[in-house]
Amino acid sequence: MFLNIHTHHPEKYDNEQIIFNLIIPESEEALESFTEEIPNVWLSAGIHPWYIAEDNQKKQLDLLSKLANYQQVKFIGECGLDRLKGSSLPLQEAIFIKQIRIAEEVKKPILIHCVKCFNELISIKKIVRPKVPMIIHGFNNNLEIAQSLVERGFYFSLGAALMNEESNAAKVLQQIPLEKLFFETDDKEISIQKIYEKASYLLNLPLNSLKDVIFTNYLSMWGEHPVRR
Ligand SMILES: [Zn+2]
Repeated sequence: MFLNIHTHHPEKYDNEQIIFNLIIPESEEALESFTEEIPNVWLSAGIHPWYIAEDNQKKQLDLLSKLANYQQVKFIGECGLDRLKGSSLPLQEAIFIKQIRIAEEVKKPILIHCVKCFNELISIKKIVRPKVPMIIHGFNNNLEIAQSLVERGFYFSLGAALMNEESNAAKVLQQIPLEKLFFETDDKEISIQKIYEKASYLLNLPLNSLKDVIFTNYLSMWGEHPVRR
């Protein structure tokens, strides 16, 4: 089974276990009808930094708090910080911290979107000190950033960028501890199997072993920490 930890497509292959991402919407109307259309697959749910409802934050957070308790919601996120897009950074930080608190309450790991804000992300982890695992999705940054995140206990999810051997993702893959690693397709059309195959080649690790490692990582997030499965 290929675990795809972050995707925006609810359809899946037979050999794939997906975590389908729900973005908590901005508009009042969409917030009210949101729970009516949730697919019955494993989910992550979060307020994306691009879609913070500046005048409706409480409603968005209340909906997330409610969804966070759903059994099929396995992660809180994607949530986080984006220097290039979305609301002001102070507001993004405030909403991110509130989502970390929700994740702590329900004891579920956090899937993080982070663009050019790694120092802020590290500071927030230092201040809030969440016990739940924090996974940076779509990681495609340089070795220096990767190492400082490894030192601080973050997990990583790598995606389609791996297909290009000149990408940061492909270059840092071997430097990330195997027990901190996940893979994802995000919004791309590529299959998760192709991404695993490429990673297997780059790591010089048989595909079946890699699949086992990644599933063990998923399970161990609930083993090491008092997290609800
Ligand atoms: Zn995404």
